[in-house]
Amino acid sequence: MSRLALILFGPPAAGKGTQARMVGAALRVPVISTGDILREAVRNETELGKEARRHMESGGLVPDELVDAIVKERLQRTDCAQGFILDGYPRTVHQAVFLESAFKDGDLKIRVVGISVADDVLIRRIAGRKSCPKCGKVFNFGDAARKDGAVCDECGTALVSRADDSAEVMVQRLKVYHRQTRPLVDYYQGRGWYVEVDGDRPADEVNQSILKAVQGQVGTMSAVAR
Ligand code: ADP
Repeated sequence: MSRLALILFGPPAAGKGTQARMVGAALRVPVISTGDILREAVRNETELGKEARRHMESGGLVPDELVDAIVKERLQRTDCAQGFILDGYPRTVHQAVFLESAFKDGDLKIRVVGISVADDVLIRRIAGRKSCPKCGKVFNFGDAARKDGAVCDECGTALVSRADDSAEVMVQRLKVYHRQTRPLVDYYQGRGWYVEVDGDRPADEVNQSILKAVQGQVGTMSAVAR
């Protein structure tokens, strides 16, 4: 039986990470976030982390070969046997082709949900974004006064801003998105695997739309949830 690879797609700060966690919990499948894996490597100062850091801090992409290898290794683990959610991968057409080639024919059913948010909204969101360094949960604070001393409501860890969330780096990440990642929409539309939801709404509403879209594409949800 083929397993479902659900790709959550969209520009930086579209809400992919938040939605991936919610959808992962609903479908009971693991979430593989390349951004989280790379940030952990950077924190641990591994060889991969040292190489990745240069690209991440400037707002560019980490080379395909590095990210492809990480994803391939991660998807071979047993927890991915029934399906998984990808957050932040693929980000280039090369990565999309790799993902398909890494699995035997028919072993992977790929579906892509794009979360659409206008650039000006993304830039405003980034200015107020903090995340938990321990469990990865992302928080958005519209009110700057609340940013200091905030802790994660799940595990109590002090929240931090990401090094690549500064205004200049964000502008670069958006450029990279439009140039290298956005073309994947055509790629996946051509395969008939792509649906889009409006991401400029409260997280719960976006989540309902995603679950509905997934249900429409893979039949009943219980077919993927175990
Ligand atoms: P966001 O969701 O805000 O776009 P991520 O946490 O997904 O950010 O990724 C942060 C950074 O990690 C990216 O800007 C990029 O440098 C690197 N990265 C993550 N995933 C990939 C990938 N699939 N290919 C290349 N670089 C990646």
